[in-house]
Amino acid sequence: MQGKLIIFSAPSGAGKTTIVRHLLSRNLNLEFSISATSRGKRHNEINGRDYYFLSAEEFKCKIDNNEFLEWEEVYQGTFYGTLKSEVERIRSNGKNVIFDVDVVGGCNIKKYYGDDSLAVFVQPPSVEELQKRLLSRSTDTPEVIEKRIQKAEYELTFAGQFDRIIVNEHLDKAFEDAEKCVHEFLNKAK
Ligand code: 5GP
Repeated sequence: MQGKLIIFSAPSGAGKTTIVRHLLSRNLNLEFSISATSRGKRHNEINGRDYYFLSAEEFKCKIDNNEFLEWEEVYQGTFYGTLKSEVERIRSNGKNVIFDVDVVGGCNIKKYYGDDSLAVFVQPPSVEELQKRLLSRSTDTPEVIEKRIQKAEYELTFAGQFDRIIVNEHLDKAFEDAEKCVHEFLNKAK
């Protein structure tokens, strides 16, 4: 049987990457879909583990070759996308795929896979809290953080299009909620 698809989307800084990492450490037969991006690598990231880091030219070439399941210019001049080959690689190994993508990408993957996928929206308790988290993470410049906050308000309007919403106020509770809904989905008879 082909693996199922679990989509996690949220505004940047809502905590979805932390939740996705937690789920990967549980016994859920999940494998992370490594996205491609044209943004610069952060100091703690590894090519081929966190992302496939491509130049803008390489990224555009793959768009032209129809290699993406979905792609978005998530921030002006910065592209992110899911390669079809990545999803095929994971599913052909009999594993379930877990995606960490922006809200528009999440909605597109959900539309494509329908009931074979579970789309989860991770919601921060408030925009102020999101700003605090992005500042304390200190992985991005103030300009980048400002862009992300502006975008977050728009992204929050997408929450209703997802199958489930998890409010990440207390991380332990968010871990528990995420694990429960993924577990239920994976064990649901088709
Ligand atoms: P970051 O730069 O913080 O790693 O990611 C920025 C945003 O891009 C996050 O919301 C992240 O989930 C999203 N993103 C990462 N990979 C993909 C992808 O393959 N497709 C889309 N649409 N968004 C992605």
